[in-house]
Amino acid sequence: SPSLQPEAPARALPHVVIFPFPIQGHVNSMLKLAELLILCLQRDDDLRITFLNSEHNHNRLLHCSDVTSRFSNHPTFRFKTIPDGLPSETARSKDNLLEVFNNLKLRARDVLAELMAPSDDQPPPTCIIADGFMSFMIDAGEEFGLPVVMFRTISACCFWAYFCIPRLIEAGELPIQGNQDMDRIVTSVPGTDGLLRCRDLPGFCRVADLSDPQLQNITLQTSQTTRAQGLILNTFEALEGPILNQIRAHCANIYTVGPLNAHLKSRLPAASQFPIRQSSNSLWEEDRSCLIWLDKQPVRSVVYVSFGSLAVLEREELTEFGHGIVNSNYRFLWVLRPDSVGSHDHIDAELQAATEERGCIVEWAPQEEVLAHPAIGGFLTHSGWNSTIESITAGVPMVCWPYFADQQVNSRFVSEAWKVGLDMKDRCDRTVVKTMINDLMVEKRDDLSRSVFAKANQAKEAVSVGGSSWDNMNRLIENILSMGG
Ligand code: UDP
Repeated sequence: SPSLQPEAPARALPHVVIFPFPIQGHVNSMLKLAELLILCLQRDDDLRITFLNSEHNHNRLLHCSDVTSRFSNHPTFRFKTIPDGLPSETARSKDNLLEVFNNLKLRARDVLAELMAPSDDQPPPTCIIADGFMSFMIDAGEEFGLPVVMFRTISACCFWAYFCIPRLIEAGELPIQGNQDMDRIVTSVPGTDGLLRCRDLPGFCRVADLSDPQLQNITLQTSQTTRAQGLILNTFEALEGPILNQIRAHCANIYTVGPLNAHLKSRLPAASQFPIRQSSNSLWEEDRSCLIWLDKQPVRSVVYVSFGSLAVLEREELTEFGHGIVNSNYRFLWVLRPDSVGSHDHIDAELQAATEERGCIVEWAPQEEVLAHPAIGGFLTHSGWNSTIESITAGVPMVCWPYFADQQVNSRFVSEAWKVGLDMKDRCDRTVVKTMINDLMVEKRDDLSRSVFAKANQAKEAVSVGGSSWDNMNRLIENILSMGG
């Protein structure tokens, strides 16, 4: 009889686990993605989100950002934490990233097992959005039958350079043969048409020994992306179209949804429950006094200087930057993290005097608001991807001093492909700094501004209704929801 028929199993409630690698740029963009998902859904109820933070970062985030107030209205969003394995007092720096990576790799499976276990307050996950740097999440997803979409928080051009490392090795273009070899053009990164010299390859390629653990790891992590259901990138088609097409031959399902900061604004409903001011995902306390200082400066008169969250400057480098900035005679806003230099005794009298006269130094700035401020005329940056795309979105041209990892590639594309900045890579003396700032603010300002405004407009189009990033976000959501059943 019909009553003996087994009932169709209830459709699983969609529940995504979002897991960034625990450094500022990655956490920032993955939180933005989470917020976008919430904004795009019809009802909160449509999707549950568990955001997996390292314990260390989570405490800092709660202390320094406004995530608590932003996410508290959304009962279907929650944070969960995972230990990163380092003692809490140890500074997280580029030197222990691999250790953090290995520790997370050991623990992630158990955290996922815990989430899969029946519980009263949450249905089990139905899919994972994992940092594209952590391919062990694909293994974990396979074990629990969960589809995994990778979110790579770097540029498409750097992702592609990483992807081509095995070809570069096979063609004998790597390893780089010392300093005298740095200007050799590489040919094994298809689609870059003679743009890349050895010095423009990812920082991890600057090793004599190809068995270097960081090089090996980045190559492996990148190659694994092809196993994922899809690849999310914080970029837009009009910026990186040709490179994205190269990647599509290997990872067919790419969701370009960036620039995420602009995309978030474009999705905000007119009567928004979100605060009007930029939201903050900072792991350092933002010093908002610099905005008040900026209010008093003339339009486009200030150089903004920041090297991101991980760069640590040598004492000599700091001295050279200090003198270059002071000698350029421009107004400046400089972010000097307490841990970005050995100590603060390096600030010499000359820099101190110039700061009092026409500068402002803070330990951490609300960067997106700074870049959007009319007083900013240019950005001296380390070319981290978030900083780069935030600068492009704000229409601010750059001088690039790449520090490590993806930054060497980004700065080359900024200067030679997109023409929205100048690349001073591998040079750090006061004369170069002064000349570069002068070019940025005066000599090359009109050309750079024209290009960067054009890119900013294309970015805006991409995140507007019917734009490529807008449509890709809708497609991503549809796919995530369909993974529930
Ligand atoms: N940032 C900030 N305040 C600062 C310096 C940086 O809010 O004083 C933010 C910046 O807006 C960006 C992130 O920190 O979103 C840095 O990421 P990026 O990828 O540029 O560089 P990383 O820190 O990973 O080297």
